[in-house]
Amino acid sequence: MTYLFDPPPAVAIPVAGESGRFPVRRIYCVGRNYAEHAREMGHDPTREPPFFFMKPADALVLGGGDFPYPPGTQDVHHEIELVAALGSGGRDIPAERALDHVVAYAVGLDMTRRDLQGEAKKMGRPWDTGKGFDQSAPCSDLVPASRIGHPSAGRIWLDVNGTTRQSADIADLIWSVPEMIAYLSRLFELKAGDLIMTGTPAGVGPVARGDLLEGGVDGIATVRTRVV
Ligand code: MN
Repeated sequence: MTYLFDPPPAVAIPVAGESGRFPVRRIYCVGRNYAEHAREMGHDPTREPPFFFMKPADALVLGGGDFPYPPGTQDVHHEIELVAALGSGGRDIPAERALDHVVAYAVGLDMTRRDLQGEAKKMGRPWDTGKGFDQSAPCSDLVPASRIGHPSAGRIWLDVNGTTRQSADIADLIWSVPEMIAYLSRLFELKAGDLIMTGTPAGVGPVARGDLLEGGVDGIATVRTRVV
């Protein structure tokens, strides 16, 4: 078969300790999954059903690359998040079996054009321009679950220029990783290569050109990017 033009290169994340990379299919993101963050965004963190949006796979920024301040906004926010990577998938996955599909974890940033997201919320419009823009997902290398297990607790943090802005614990996720996978798999057929960004804790805020963002989940990984 020939193509009309060269197909875009596959997006693939390095995996710590392995020579093969993880090819990315989709990036699912979960909204409002820590109670304190739901409150800071003006919502009641009662256990409403999880809701989802997506980022394009080619929005990933890997290897500690720079984050270019995006156009069309005056208010770009950082959101540090635990990322789960699926090595297999399916439909209607029971929560008790969900972790069988998670092969690795990473730490990522769900960078957000908050002003455009706010406008979309107000107008009842989709979030794509606020969330799914180019280079909106800086992400660490993956760490295999065979090495670290399936962490359900651990500090999640983000520093901007050495000052802590976000600090919480992944034990405080409203919807756990298995519960999110079970819920998502009733809406989409999940497949190998899917990433799930699991939501951010409180403390989100604006970034400016020149800022150094460094974050992590203790025991998993750290992510680092500079805003340029
Ligand atoms: Mn987020």
